[in-house]
Amino acid sequence: MRRLIIDAHLDLAMNAIEWNRDLAQPLDAIRNRELHMPDKPDRGKGTVCLPELRKGRVGLVVATQLARVNRFGSSQTGWNSPQQAWAMTQAQLTWYREMELIGEMTQVTNLLQLERHLELWNDGEIPDNDKPIGYILSLEGADSLVKMDYLHRAYDEGLRAVGLSHFGPGRYADGTKTAGAIHPSGIELMKAMEDLNMILDITHLTDRGFEQALECYQGPIWASHHNVRHIVPNQRQLSDEQIKRLIGRDAVIGGMLDCWAMDVRFIDTVSDPWQLDIRLDHLIDHWDHICQLAGNTNHIAIGSDLDGIFGTEQSPWDMNSIADLQLFEDLLLKRGYCNEDIDRIFHGNWLRFLRKALK
Ligand SMILES: [Zn+2]
Repeated sequence: MRRLIIDAHLDLAMNAIEWNRDLAQPLDAIRNRELHMPDKPDRGKGTVCLPELRKGRVGLVVATQLARVNRFGSSQTGWNSPQQAWAMTQAQLTWYREMELIGEMTQVTNLLQLERHLELWNDGEIPDNDKPIGYILSLEGADSLVKMDYLHRAYDEGLRAVGLSHFGPGRYADGTKTAGAIHPSGIELMKAMEDLNMILDITHLTDRGFEQALECYQGPIWASHHNVRHIVPNQRQLSDEQIKRLIGRDAVIGGMLDCWAMDVRFIDTVSDPWQLDIRLDHLIDHWDHICQLAGNTNHIAIGSDLDGIFGTEQSPWDMNSIADLQLFEDLLLKRGYCNEDIDRIFHGNWLRFLRKALK
């Protein structure tokens, strides 16, 4: 049996609701339906659907709800009110519930459910095709929480991880492509999250926000989809100092497969991964760097971000779908990682983290 993979960042519901993708269908069918659709640059180039997750033994994912609120005049896209953004996240949640109803997915909110789900995926008697994809619900950017008490409503629906910001200025914290901070409301939100022992996702915080988060937040912290600034020198990635601080908190960092975050030469909508020869192997350079800083392989894992508003046009050319995450086994062996390391990267590090966080 091949190894189980945990991917800590997939925007599944966003693809279902905003891209109108029926992720229960085979990948070819989804691509074929989009062949002549001009509305988005990644049409017909998606890499993620539930059958491909099963094919790649990606049996557990962290799946997002995602809806931004935009200030008047901002260049980012988003909703014009927190109520609209909340409504969008509720549509996304309803899609996850519908997938549960037809046995495609199952929600994991506590340790018991986690262990049961792992037992199922470790059961070689049951074909993987008959197993539901487990998901831990995460909110990428907190804009949609209309007021503080919405966090409790979301927690009751199984939300277990929150990132305060996404791109641009946010309601609780400013995010990627700004130099802003976590707002007083964001500090208050972190206190409420701490009481619930929720996971704080530091991905998409600014450098100042990162500092504030590590200072204020005493609960579990991870970086769900994040690469290394030493290799790709922009603020979206983690500096060595930040990586060391995350290691000090026993955090885990999910490596991502957006070419823009893998190779400094890549320019959105201009570059071609094949021309620049960006392969899956590039991500191992990022992982290597973190391992050198840590002195071990305990803090790296997968947070692919595949189909996070890009498709094959912006992911490594030697992969076709998310099932190809399994190719990392051979690539890692070639780079000198041992079997135990590969287990840790594929699932072990996220599991260590989750077992502690969901207790
Ligand atoms: Zn993201």
